[in-house]
Amino acid sequence: MRRIAVVGAGQAGLQLALGLVADGYRVTLVAERTPEQLRGGRVLSTQAMFGPALRIEAAAGLDLWAERAPAVSSVEAVLAAPPGVRALEYTMTLDEPAQSVDQRLKLAGWLELLAERGGVVEYRTLDRGGLHELARRHELTVVAAGRGALSGIFERDAVRSPFDGPQRALSCLYAHGVGSPDPAGGPRARMNALPGLGELYLQPALTLSGPCDILLWEALPGGPLDAFGDAPPPDVQLARIRELLAEYLPWEAELWTEAEPTDAGAGLFGAVTPVVRRAVAELGSGVDAVHVLGLGDAVVVTDPIAGQGANNAARAAEAYRRAVVEHGDAPYTADWMCRTAERFWQQQARHSVEFTAAMLTVPDHLQGVFAAAAEHPEVGRRLANTYAEARDYAAWLATPELTAAYLASVGNSSAGSQVRLGDEDGSGGSCRQEPPDPGA
Ligand SMILES: Cc1cc2nc3c(=O)[nH]c(=O)nc-3n(C[C@H](O)[C@H](O)[C@H](O)COP(=O)(O)OP(=O)(O)OC[C@H]3O[C@@H](n4cnc5c(N)ncnc54)[C@H](O)[C@@H]3O)c2cc1C
Repeated sequence: MRRIAVVGAGQAGLQLALGLVADGYRVTLVAERTPEQLRGGRVLSTQAMFGPALRIEAAAGLDLWAERAPAVSSVEAVLAAPPGVRALEYTMTLDEPAQSVDQRLKLAGWLELLAERGGVVEYRTLDRGGLHELARRHELTVVAAGRGALSGIFERDAVRSPFDGPQRALSCLYAHGVGSPDPAGGPRARMNALPGLGELYLQPALTLSGPCDILLWEALPGGPLDAFGDAPPPDVQLARIRELLAEYLPWEAELWTEAEPTDAGAGLFGAVTPVVRRAVAELGSGVDAVHVLGLGDAVVVTDPIAGQGANNAARAAEAYRRAVVEHGDAPYTADWMCRTAERFWQQQARHSVEFTAAMLTVPDHLQGVFAAAAEHPEVGRRLANTYAEARDYAAWLATPELTAAYLASVGNSSAGSQVRLGDEDGSGGSCRQEPPDPGA
């Protein structure tokens, strides 16, 4: 039985560990928090998962909450310009429903499942030295430690990293008692864009205490919606949310009169610096040198505005699992790691990074798409489904010309161009490594 170590018990690490155990590998997972600590802690994400990622979880038998989590099949989009005025509105349909299961619930459950299924879980926080020692004891070590300090072992790729700093200030609250604009219409997500100020996302989800709604402010830093820098407790956060909604999005304010935070850990604040890192790192030197492979947010971080991070973590974990199985008994060389990561980058991650960058900066041609979606439901449908399958970004949103060609085709019974896939075999990829650090 081959010995594989996974560091980090998030979406990426746990899903990979569970998959490899099911495939017959001996897996050690290093986790920082126990299931009890996770369930008793602060919310971690808004974690909307789209069809392709949900199908991966279902195929692996990991969709333990699928029956209880609201199935979201459409998104109501509103352009609030000027603030307080609904200038444009439309509903976008998802081909497959999305779901959001509070990661506190999901990751705690998956940790327990991993132990039940024979995985070894070690509860500790690894530093670089501890990681080196772990990697020397295993044939393959995958680092899925998220955005924390350990990701610093992977060199930032300046060419692929779209920004140098955070593009939005984030404030997220899980709440019970939020009204629906159309109770008979089933669970829907809502997206309000406030040009020059930020965006507000709302989505039905499942949390520890049952169904809830999650609110996510994406505020332009320094603007009036960037009002949560002091990370207030949930009741203060809610009061401030109500004030902002009343001023900027009064149609949402009406729905929040009965709302209350789901629990003491219902609020989350901060900002994300989007970054792409080289996915292979060398630790130690000479005969002690080992390579480790990065996965998920440890190597590709996107702002949550386009809901790509957890979906990519799920898809990357599945891509890596398959690569491990296909590799058979061969050694996990740095070259193999590099090819594995590069294939995923080309096929999937780069499209998510580019799509997210576009949603953050809203170039003119994307504004044209929003306007067209109000006229043509199929445009809204294609946009909604690009969140689920970001590879389609390359086919219709990547340049003004592609978008213009697609929009011109709408109404002329043309479905637009096909999804263009990347470098399928991962050859020719860039996974350059720096020379070993003699001090490591
Ligand atoms: C506000 C917000 C909203 C979001 N909404 C969405 C969304 O709707 N859809 C979507 O797809 N994505 C969303 N994301 C992004 C998504 O949450 C992440 O991309 C995803 O959870 C990353 O998974 P991961 O497993 O790579 O990392 P993580 O979930 O960060 O897991 C990493 C794990 O490693 C552990 N760890 C860290 N350092 C160490 C160490 N030294 N030793 C041992 N363990 C360690 C951590 O404790 C953690 O458990 C959102 C993010 C934010 C901040």
